[in-house]
This record gives sequence, structure tokens and C-alpha cells, in this order.
Amino acid sequence: MSAQVINGKEIVSTYRAQIKEEVANLTAKGVQPGLAVIIVGEDPASQVYVRNKAKACEEAGIYSEVHKLAGSTSEADVLALIEQLNHNPRIHGILVQSPLPKHISEDKIVEAIAVEKDADCFHPVNVGNLMIGKEGPAPCTPAGVIAILKHIGVDIAGKHAVVIGRSNIVGKPMAILMLREHATVTICHSKTANMEEITRQADILIAAVGKPKMVKKHHVKPGAIVIDVGINRLDTGKLAGDVDFDDVLDTASYITPVPGCVGPMTITILLRNTLDAAARTIQSQVNG
Ligand code: NDP
Repeated sequence: MSAQVINGKEIVSTYRAQIKEEVANLTAKGVQPGLAVIIVGEDPASQVYVRNKAKACEEAGIYSEVHKLAGSTSEADVLALIEQLNHNPRIHGILVQSPLPKHISEDKIVEAIAVEKDADCFHPVNVGNLMIGKEGPAPCTPAGVIAILKHIGVDIAGKHAVVIGRSNIVGKPMAILMLREHATVTICHSKTANMEEITRQADILIAAVGKPKMVKKHHVKPGAIVIDVGINRLDTGKLAGDVDFDDVLDTASYITPVPGCVGPMTITILLRNTLDAAARTIQSQVNG
């Protein structure tokens, strides 16, 4: 039987409608959530991502500003801009689009962002809080995956989740979030031996590898839920996931399409983080 293709559009619009309503309520109380996005250089894919983020903000009623800096901008100038945004009351979330030019340290940039304005959950303090289950921003892509699973009614507790990929941005926080949902979690990576024996045990298989169509039918247990985080640009100009969609379609029970599911859901969590950060400023005024 053919897998059910998860309807990313429907899920995204449901979540964004809820966010839009909460943004309107908060704005009515005098705090319009605001996101600042910094992009350094001309990477074409990054330009598209940044445009999509700004458009999503606008549609949700979130104030956004995009700071487009030349590729030659010094690290000191980017740090100075972040410092300014850290103190700007209109801004509740700050995001620096990666990749950055080689002369700029990603670590320094991420650590310069105020912990409470870290819209991506990249700051080491927020990563630590995530690890120990404290409140903070959600890691956007992994939290998007959890939201998708919940929306389609998956009971994650007790399931074996296998995550392929161990990056700081996707694989590791994905594993932590699945653990938080009480899954039994295995992480695979480029040094994993006999990977398909492990992935074939997965009830939920999450691919975050960056290798187009790498995950095939023989990696997938019949009836597994397959979540494809990958976004890879093929020579043809088309986008492909890390999963060979056509090959896996008859084996999985559910599968996410690429594009149109995890990508827009990632942006949805970014909106949610900005909204929640803005809501916390009201809360701290009340408490303080
Ligand atoms: P990274 O390149 O940082 O990490 C890739 C991971 O995959 C590494 O842990 C690597 O292992 C592992 N890997 C590489 N080759 C293999 C292999 N042959 N077998 C098993 N594991 C392997 O990528 P990201 O995590 O940043 O991104 C992964 C994918 O997700 C990309 O396609 C990216 O474009 C996409 N992405 C999508 C987002 C969205 O919004 N949908 C957001 C962010 C990323 P090792 O650690 O051993 O090197």
C-alpha cells in the first residue's frame, strides 16, 4: 500500500493561523512581536530563505527587519549590529542566516545574541537549557518535526526513533526532542556501521543528512513514518530531500514531501519563538 503523503500545507496553515491570532492579541496589548534577520553575503539559497522568513512574518502580523550586509562586512560590524538589536525593544528575536563568510566566526556571532532573543535556539545557554528540559526557544527544524508528528496523531512515546545526522542544528536537538517525547532514540551518522540494519528498526525515521535521495526502501521498515528534513538542490535546479521519495513510498506508512513540509514548518516555529519571546517580555514586566 502506498504511504500517506503528509499534507505540509494544511499543517503549516493550521499552526500559522493560531500564531497569527496570538500575535494580534499581544499586539493589542501593546507589544507587537518583532524579528530581525541578518544576512551577510550573496548566497542565493540564503536570500530565498530570508525572503520566505520575512514574508511569513508579514503574514502573521510580526514586525520584521532584514539587515542585508555585504560579504566583506567585518565580524566587528556584525557584532555591533547584534549589540544594537539586543537593546532594541521592537525586536524580540534575532536570527543570523548561515552560512556566514569564512572570516566571521559563527560561534562568536551566536554567543553575541542575547539569550532571550535567540530565535533559533543556537546559543549555548539555550542549547544547555534544551538538554536539561528548561524553558527556552525551540530548535526550529526539530520542533517543526515534532509538531508535524503530533498533528498527524502519532503517539511518540515508546516508539523507536532513528535520526540520521548529528549536526548541532538538526540531528542532535532532534534526538533530544524525541527523547523528551519518550521515544527510544538512536542516532546514525557517517561512521555508523551497518546503518540500514538500524534504520530498519525505526518506527519513526528522520533523515537529516544533506545527501539527495540517500534513504532507500531497504533502509525503511514496512509501515514506518518517514520524515525528510533534507533540502538538496539537484543539478537540474530541482529540490530533493534526503529520502528517495518514490522508492520509499510503498514501504512507509507516512512520508513528508520535499519541498513543502519540514521547511515551512521550520519557519513556523521561528514565528512561534518570536511570539513567545515577545510574550515573555510582558510577563517579565508584570513580574518585575
Ligand atoms: P550537516 O552537514 O551539518 O550534517 C549532516 C549529518 O549527516 C552529519 O551528522 C553527518 O555525519 C551525517 N551524514 C553524512 N553522510 C552520511 C551518510 N552517508 N550516512 C549517515 N550519515 C551521514 O547538515 P545539517 O544537519 O545542517 O542538514 C541536513 C539536511 O537538512 C541538509 O539537506 C539541509 O539542507 C537540511 N536542512 C533543512 C532544514 C529545513 O528547514 N527543512 C533546516 C536545516 C537543514 P558526521 O557527523 O559523521 O559527519
